[in-house]
Amino acid sequence: MSKVLEFFVKKFKEELLDREITSLPSYNRPRPYRNGTVKFRPCAFSDFDKRIEILKETDLNAFFFPAHQIPGCDLLSDSGSTTMTMEQWGQLLLGDESYGSNEGYFELKNQIVDTFGEEWRQTDKNQESLFIFHQGRAAEHALFSYLKKIRQTDHPLTPDNLAAGLIDSLKERIQKKIKRWHGESQPPMLIIPSNSHFDTTEANIEFNQIIALNIPCREHETNNREFEFRGNMNVEYLESLLEHQGDRVPLVYLTVTNNTGGGQPVSMANIKAVRKITRRYNVPFFLDACRFAENAWFIQQREKGYARKSITGIVKEMFEQVDGFHISFKKDGLVNVGGGLVIKPDSLFIRTYPDIAEKLTDHQILTEGNPTYGGLAGRDLKGLVEGLKTVVSPEYLGHRIKQVGRFGTRLRELGIPIIEPPGGHAVYINMDEFFKDTDTRDADFKGVSFTALMLVAGHRLCELGIYAFGKYREGTEIPPDPRVNHVRAAIPRLAYEDQDLSSVAEAIRILYEHRDRIPGVTVEYGRDKTLRHFKSRFKFKD
Ligand SMILES: *Cc1c(COP(=O)(O)O)cnc(C)c1O
Repeated sequence: MSKVLEFFVKKFKEELLDREITSLPSYNRPRPYRNGTVKFRPCAFSDFDKRIEILKETDLNAFFFPAHQIPGCDLLSDSGSTTMTMEQWGQLLLGDESYGSNEGYFELKNQIVDTFGEEWRQTDKNQESLFIFHQGRAAEHALFSYLKKIRQTDHPLTPDNLAAGLIDSLKERIQKKIKRWHGESQPPMLIIPSNSHFDTTEANIEFNQIIALNIPCREHETNNREFEFRGNMNVEYLESLLEHQGDRVPLVYLTVTNNTGGGQPVSMANIKAVRKITRRYNVPFFLDACRFAENAWFIQQREKGYARKSITGIVKEMFEQVDGFHISFKKDGLVNVGGGLVIKPDSLFIRTYPDIAEKLTDHQILTEGNPTYGGLAGRDLKGLVEGLKTVVSPEYLGHRIKQVGRFGTRLRELGIPIIEPPGGHAVYINMDEFFKDTDTRDADFKGVSFTALMLVAGHRLCELGIYAFGKYREGTEIPPDPRVNHVRAAIPRLAYEDQDLSSVAEAIRILYEHRDRIPGVTVEYGRDKTLRHFKSRFKFKD
């Protein structure tokens, strides 16, 4: 008998553990969790007519479509759309809703140290290190408005006063940015570089007269699919910038994972290289840490020397390198709302800006509430503490990121042009490629038509291309520069099974097979508005 058991254990290991099935709908491992509570949808998958009716009422804008009328996958965003665990729901009941110094605040401070490392423990009673906000962007707003105030200069940046020594291609990139400011009353004064800023980060930076400069690595810019850390920063550019124009740089940022292009990871080597350069020029270094755990998983899987290191160890090593970070807890906090700004006590950032803690506290009191709850309820903090414990679990991370990968593989097998390789949280479909052999012009906005037809099929995706990022000026449509034309399928955490994603892939297959029949749209309202994709109304062209 024991021989038989041995045989089967060997077989199970070979076929279920060692062999990775990467394509939907076949899989050989169970999810590392089971459903605790489920919600039946109030709408029927078969009710195509109803969705057509709603689509007309909501004028083909996916943001307006009521979520409870989506019978399939809602892949509009992975932000705040996490399914919480029973442990988190349990913690919500234990929430302490005191106005001052609620229990969750202390637990969160301890959890920050547990997750990110001992050097994040507050040392000076009068220098708070944790600033809680209702979302990541509120933290961004607080930080950059402070930096603007503190680094006042009378000399705006102009295309002609950049330092002579800058690498030419970098200089051109900055000049292009400066020129875009032309005609605005508030000229740019400072520069904050990043591998790529997230859109709200960029908006908050530029609102404060600071240029949000993206310097992704060459492999990102040349679309090198073999390179496994396409989220990296171009450190040559960074060095040139800090050497020649360091006086204009109050802070350097790295976004992990790099949201632009679908959550591409940043290597530990790159994080350390950025650290080394920023130290040499005495400039503080921050992470936009929204997907820190997903990034750590990629490092463990892909980077030489990290295969045997634990996720928690890798996270600590990443955060050892930096002076602070901001984060949207709606991503790797595994909660539905929340943001934070965390400053390392005893860091270059604190030495450079000694008043910052006090100023941020003032800002919180003015705009969010008592600093011990930020803009959140006490129960939210409890759920967040629990989420931060779960998010570094290797079983959770492996399942999550491989699920995104399998969905990408399935689309690739169907011939759908996606951005390769898929990152940690989303799959991007390339609309230029998708419609390549059809008669399509930019002003047809077929990415919008695509998302509208997907809603008829019962799933919601998000256009992030010509419509979301382009502009309409004086009767002409100006596509984004550099050009991007994607539809994004962002995968919410712990929410869907492979079967659900498989049905999304099938609907996309049908659209792809009949892509020549997909009409363009006309814009009935909002074409010339700012952030127009949130506001616009469309109609299919006949
Ligand atoms: C979501 C996100 C933000 C902003 O956070 P919100 O909570 O949505 O305000 C900032 N940076 C990155 C990389 C993000 O993904």
